[in-house]
Amino acid sequence: MKILVLNCGSSSIKFQYIETDLERIDHNQDRLLARGLVEKIGTVEAVASCQAGERASRDVGVEIPDHHAAIAKVVSMLRNTGALADPKEISAVGHRVVHGGDFQSSQLITAEVVKKIEEAVELAPLHNPHNLKGYDVCRELFPDRAQVAVFDTAFHQTMPARAYLYALPYDYFRRHRIRRYGFHGTSHRYVAYRFRQLTDRSKEETSLITCHLGNGCSITAIQHGRSVDTSMGFTPLEGLVMGTRPGDLDPAIILHLMAKLEMSHQEVATMLNRYSGLYGISGETNDMRGLLESTRKGHERARLAVEVFCYRIRKYIGAYTAVLGQVHGLVFTGGIGENAPRVRELACEQLAGLGYELDKARNEKALGIEADIATAASPARIFVIPTNEELLIARDTYRTIEGIENI
Ligand code: ADP
Repeated sequence: MKILVLNCGSSSIKFQYIETDLERIDHNQDRLLARGLVEKIGTVEAVASCQAGERASRDVGVEIPDHHAAIAKVVSMLRNTGALADPKEISAVGHRVVHGGDFQSSQLITAEVVKKIEEAVELAPLHNPHNLKGYDVCRELFPDRAQVAVFDTAFHQTMPARAYLYALPYDYFRRHRIRRYGFHGTSHRYVAYRFRQLTDRSKEETSLITCHLGNGCSITAIQHGRSVDTSMGFTPLEGLVMGTRPGDLDPAIILHLMAKLEMSHQEVATMLNRYSGLYGISGETNDMRGLLESTRKGHERARLAVEVFCYRIRKYIGAYTAVLGQVHGLVFTGGIGENAPRVRELACEQLAGLGYELDKARNEKALGIEADIATAASPARIFVIPTNEELLIARDTYRTIEGIENI
């Protein structure tokens, strides 16, 4: 089955075109037919690119007024690169949807599912409306094709109440759905699945901690294939330190800033989402590569930013080890987790007593590849596993349509 995977944002669309079926999934041989990006949608200087094997298509400075034009552009680039001879070859569309409310799994999109995604707009106002727009456009362009929503939140719906409840008056949960949802679920689920495959373990016999460290960062405790706790909460602001977000914070700081500096709601929101985290502490950049370079050159605030970032990860690993009891594997993924040995080293510092023994040489060599970076004697394995959310969206789309249980 050939599946178009779409990740629709407000002004950009990322896409992949993937062939998958049961046999390909079993042998890990899904085919990536093409991938690409349309950026600056809504302007006359949009950029659209597509890579299909050796063939590429790229347009700079084109007019792409809306999502309809953008997805039509995706189809025309797939044709230009030879990935697609006829749009009829697209069997189904899989959409990344950020907030799925209380959905526990990927869903075939029906009127009822659309209604639920709309109800979750208030919980993810920057994402869900654009995800839905992608669905509407595809319904026009491919009216008889099945479409599936794969939610960032779904994997974490298995968290027990003790993990998802905030200790606020209970009515805020009951009436206003204030609780911890968690995000990056597709990534955590994918690397957990790959860990079990690589180590030949079943869901039932595996407890894992997965660290997704990209621009956004989150860490998840997984038991028997189910998320039992995760660091992001009601929104993706909670938990680990991120590129431009602070993660865990005393909420009284916000009250203080609003009262003392008379900061507005919007100013606080901008500060928390765009000017905090690695960028906020270093005053330099949110880019981990740049910060590691600056640290080597002796920049004190860059060093501090990296140290705070890694220390927070270490604290969460300790906390989730306590949540799980025994842990079989610790997995690093995301741009930083896959490519920054120094961050993994600092995050695992002093964790030998908890059963995580990093092998320095193996760690240094693991750059963007699947690798076991623990010492042979380490009680828990430590893995680097590049994430692949698009692949999991394609597989979920296939399995949801065929009525096969998702992993
Ligand atoms: P997003 O969350 O936007 O998908 P990524 O998962 O691509 O982001 O992660 C982006 C982060 O990964 C950036 O901080 C970037 O500096 C970091 N990164 C990428 N490559 C390296 C590298 N070789 N060394 C250190 N950090 C890296």
